[in-house]
Amino acid sequence: MKKQYLIILAFAGILALTSSCHFGAKYKALIVTGQNNHNWKASSPILKQLLEETELFSTDIATSPENKADMSSFAPNFSKYDVVVLDYNGAAWPEATQKAFEKYVSNGGGVVSFHAADNSFPEWKEYNKMIGLGGWGGRTEKSGPYLYYVGDKMVLDTAAGRGGSHGKNQEFEIRMRNIEHPIVNGLPKRWIHGSDELYNSLRGPAENLEVLATAFSAKNAGGTGRNEPILMTIKYGKGRIFHSTLGHPSATGGPALECAGFIVTFQRGAEWAASGNVTQKVPYDFPNAGSSSLRAGFKQLTLEDDLTKIATYDITKSTKYFVDLQTRIRAEGKTPEAMQGFEKKMISVLQKAEATPEGKRLLMHELSWMGSDLSIPVIQELAKNAALKDEAEFALARLKPTK
Ligand code: ZN
Repeated sequence: MKKQYLIILAFAGILALTSSCHFGAKYKALIVTGQNNHNWKASSPILKQLLEETELFSTDIATSPENKADMSSFAPNFSKYDVVVLDYNGAAWPEATQKAFEKYVSNGGGVVSFHAADNSFPEWKEYNKMIGLGGWGGRTEKSGPYLYYVGDKMVLDTAAGRGGSHGKNQEFEIRMRNIEHPIVNGLPKRWIHGSDELYNSLRGPAENLEVLATAFSAKNAGGTGRNEPILMTIKYGKGRIFHSTLGHPSATGGPALECAGFIVTFQRGAEWAASGNVTQKVPYDFPNAGSSSLRAGFKQLTLEDDLTKIATYDITKSTKYFVDLQTRIRAEGKTPEAMQGFEKKMISVLQKAEATPEGKRLLMHELSWMGSDLSIPVIQELAKNAALKDEAEFALARLKPTK
């Protein structure tokens, strides 16, 4: 009897453990972090959140000993994972750990090199083959050529010089170079990235490397005047590596990480590295050539977020939730039923006594073109309120065309 009881307890323990991770996630991801010239304590939890919100990954974090501490015991079990995300730029790993990582990748393991991970390990030859290109850490022509684009042509330039630099943080345009690749297939060909460092002058072996996207590094912003590689894939043995130079983190993450373009390419790149495929849909808030698109809290806004914030809107506040609602309506309101779904939810805000007049005015303005007869009674009611009368009458005039 006692033995059975213990077995049941053991099972309960296993259940408690698995239910704390993402049950049913397809892939296991490991984020390696703990040393970086960047704020890894800010970035690594964000990367974990971004992986897990795809519902494809359960994610562990391996945190190395601190800088200058004894590294000899640092030995993550890479082979347990489908993808290893590197948010690490620090001391050399023990040789056995390096060899285990090489074996993991050459046997088909996936890797994502995030931002300054391509600064790490200038002396580790196989690592530099995996990331393709790197910067800083004393990299020179001995590390391999520079890689950049002139027009549509990729150039490998063996000129002497140091590897790795960037200008000041700024928004910049990203230009896709291979829109057929699963990671970027379906994404806009040009889009504006949130303020970030634009890495330039990376150099490395650049073997089995494909450039997915470049950005123009303007000289007047401290750059090279060249189209620099930004998103890349590399094959190493049977392994797949996705290399993103994007994502310089502030203490709270900041615009480089909040950029929907960074987030989506990171999430898709991780899935591709893990599986060779991408199943994630392109979200409607992906940036375009006109403007960047930032996700507050690194989450895509929901319709409920938009409506809750619009209900408290006054002119001192950002209109971003209203803009998000408008974008959502244009992207998702493809059928009369979908439009009516939006209309009903907007009406429910108009009916809230506590919703602000400014918020109600925005909604009535939007309903004036996309609403139906459903909106008329509630707007007629609002027309009795002096603060809302003008906007209500404007909306009613458009909703009730004169015969
Ligand atoms: Zn940086």
